[in-house]
Amino acid sequence: MKISELKSNFKKTLSGLYPSEEVESFFNILSEKYLNLSRIEIALNPDKTVSEMEDEKFQKAILRLKIHEPIQYIIGETEFYGLPFKVNKHTLIPRPETEELVEWIYSEFSNQQSTINQQQFLDIGTGSGCIAISLAKYLPNSKVSALDIFEEALKIAQQNAEMNKVKIDFFQKDILAAETLPKKYDVIISNPPYVRELEKKQMQQNVLKHEPESALYVGNEDPLLFYRTISRLAKNHLNPNGKLFFEINEYLAYELTDLLRGEGFKNIQVKKDIFGKDRMIKCNLNEPAK
Ligand code: GLN
Repeated sequence: MKISELKSNFKKTLSGLYPSEEVESFFNILSEKYLNLSRIEIALNPDKTVSEMEDEKFQKAILRLKIHEPIQYIIGETEFYGLPFKVNKHTLIPRPETEELVEWIYSEFSNQQSTINQQQFLDIGTGSGCIAISLAKYLPNSKVSALDIFEEALKIAQQNAEMNKVKIDFFQKDILAAETLPKKYDVIISNPPYVRELEKKQMQQNVLKHEPESALYVGNEDPLLFYRTISRLAKNHLNPNGKLFFEINEYLAYELTDLLRGEGFKNIQVKKDIFGKDRMIKCNLNEPAK
């Protein structure tokens, strides 16, 4: 079969399910992965033949796209903060908002890197490892640890650390059941589950049906459960002047600010994402020395 035929069949089959630009983008992503051909190469070689095996891969991907499986899970990888990451159904697909959180942390610590006094970072609920690994990569003089409740997620995170050539101290822990953490840190970061059950109806099928529920959702009654637990642990496990960073639910910035103030945190700062939504927060325990 010719590429041009494969492409037109692909578009026809998925046209009612996704907007046409999205179908086009799926085709390009799959061609890059399965045929090793860029969008331009395809446009220039419409008559190039696709083998039966290659065609079969596309047909399998179509079946998965029909049930709204995210393209990142189909090809098993994605990009975050300019780095490659493996993902599967045990890990959330890294979001652009989270890149903004990493950028915020990076901009604060990139000029404080010292080989003598390595800064200690901890990422709680690491999933694919995207936060921990990008910080370790771009802040090479820091020591990064990361935990997750799920062994399956930690396996992927470990592979991602190897692929990106960074060393992370990964460990398994249920943060909600944790009484302590292994040591003290200069920076504790978390992007915990924060989507309330009541917000589920605003979510897309690809997220609802395929991404790990345990990484996304919290009950309506206590949506700040993870934040409360983590901030209490952080009080005992942050070094003096240590900082806490969270990704947050855009609707809960006030409640969370109150909670952190109540726990004794200072310099609480909320930051918006590129869509203008309250998406990140940072704070510390001590007032900086004047
Ligand atoms: N921002 C993600 C979403 O809306 C949620 C991430 C999370 O719950 N930590 O899909």
